[in-house]
Amino acid sequence: MISCENIVKEYKTSGTSTTALKGISIRIEDGDYIAIMGTSGSGKSTLLNIIGGMDTATGGTYCFNDICVTDLSPMELHRFRKDNISFVFQNFALINQYTVWENIELPLIAKGIKRKKRAQIISRVLDEVGMEAYKDSFPMNISGGQQQRCAIARALASENSVILADEPTGALDSATTAEILNVFRRLNESGKTIILVTHDRNVAESAKRVIHIEDGMITDYDDLKKER
Ligand code: ADP
Ligand code: MG
Repeated sequence: MISCENIVKEYKTSGTSTTALKGISIRIEDGDYIAIMGTSGSGKSTLLNIIGGMDTATGGTYCFNDICVTDLSPMELHRFRKDNISFVFQNFALINQYTVWENIELPLIAKGIKRKKRAQIISRVLDEVGMEAYKDSFPMNISGGQQQRCAIARALASENSVILADEPTGALDSATTAEILNVFRRLNESGKTIILVTHDRNVAESAKRVIHIEDGMITDYDDLKKER
């Protein structure tokens, strides 16, 4: 379970300071599928990055299961991230010089996983996102939707329980967006916790719950589970 209590984030740059988060409290259960929605600059990415351990809060407490993340040292935070969190980005963040297969393999090599085991994992995750046929393709030779599927497969390969996605459909047309949202829905049904950031209401409504954030504060909250 993810539990944020009164999270504050203040950025200080050359004399000026911006308070990007002004006391955010949320609870996210294992297996939840939650969208964080708000306009540009409202603090969505800042919140997601803190939950993912990519950034640290300047106030409040954030706990992940029994780990108090706000108390971790930079080394411990790195480990926390590696062991628990997978990221999916708007721009896919694939390496163009590597094939689909190699892009997924790279973090597995970094984790020290042996070749045979790597191959098993990669085959499984490619199958989960329907990308087996493109394993030897390079990112520039496949569509945006296929690139995002590949990036999701790479996130799945880590076998972490939580997937964070920052505007994952922001670079995709509406038909492809629907496809990618189906992939997220299936992953959630198979047990992954998904936290997705978006400024798009239609995208947010694919989640089970929507948290609205404006100017660093939670302004509204929808539970969509009942409506399904
Ligand atoms: P969103 O993802 O909702 O568009 P962000 O979380 O990126 O919003 O940004 C929230 C606020 O924090 C904005 O005012 C932005 O300018 C500011 N901000 C974000 N990152 C930094 C940073 N590294 N340094 C200074 N200000 C930042
Ligand atoms: Mg953002």
